[in-house]
Amino acid sequence: MSSKRYQLKETTRALTRTGGFLRGFAFSLNPYAGCAFGDAGGCPFCYVRMLPVAHGEKSPWGSWVIAKSNLAERLERELAALEHSGRLAGTTIFMSSATDPYQGIERSLKLTRAALEAFVRHPMRRLLIQTRSPIIERDLDLITALGNRAIVSITIETDDDNVRRAISPTSPSVERRLKTARMFRKHGVFTQIAIAPMMPNHPERFACLIDDAADRVIVDTYFDGDGARGARSTALGIGELYARRGYEGWFRRGAERELLAAMRSRLGEHRVLFSGAGFNAV
Ligand code: SF4
Repeated sequence: MSSKRYQLKETTRALTRTGGFLRGFAFSLNPYAGCAFGDAGGCPFCYVRMLPVAHGEKSPWGSWVIAKSNLAERLERELAALEHSGRLAGTTIFMSSATDPYQGIERSLKLTRAALEAFVRHPMRRLLIQTRSPIIERDLDLITALGNRAIVSITIETDDDNVRRAISPTSPSVERRLKTARMFRKHGVFTQIAIAPMMPNHPERFACLIDDAADRVIVDTYFDGDGARGARSTALGIGELYARRGYEGWFRRGAERELLAAMRSRLGEHRVLFSGAGFNAV
């Protein structure tokens, strides 16, 4: 069993201006820094460990989480200021770009829930909530209250639980995540599945599973979505990891073509988006 380190820390700001890969969003919101899903064997592809947010931390990525204890007050103030200046109605927010907003500790701390309460009081144009965690189901009431301002994005990298177990064993199962997506869609929340990054899969079967679970799907790859044209994923040893697990041939440019074709054929072109253009379709 690995040990995790949790820490409470005050933050000076809630919303961070975005650009680059998330250029369609004005701000990102990370209720936590660090991520407990990323333990050894968890998300070996996670390049957030290479970003400034992880610099200065001596413990390995995946073993620490910093909870931004005053996030709700800061956010309330920042949203009120945007509202006062007349900019809130056009504001787009991505939650979260450098962590998962539904860490296990969110069950008790409820920082993400408090942020959603603030968004309900101060509605923006669009809030995209991205997670791999079924804990998001707890906040169905607040997310439905946001109506068509909210997009729920559930990350599911493969349809094959053997692949998930081999590459990111501490992530929730494929079926459990599909169940979460189906639940939000059933309640009328615009739901997307982010196949990000795409892991080895069975294209037709994957397309069939997604068809009733999501309004749209975004396919992303190590080479298009790691912010460095695959260099970060290569440096993280994904090619070697795939080779050790018997998935040679999947870590290469163009490996997503078969899946894209199967998705487009099953879901229709308009429900299948690709990489940055897909994430920024807000
Ligand atoms: S859940 Fe997301 S942020 Fe956390 S380790 Fe995995 S990829 Fe990184």
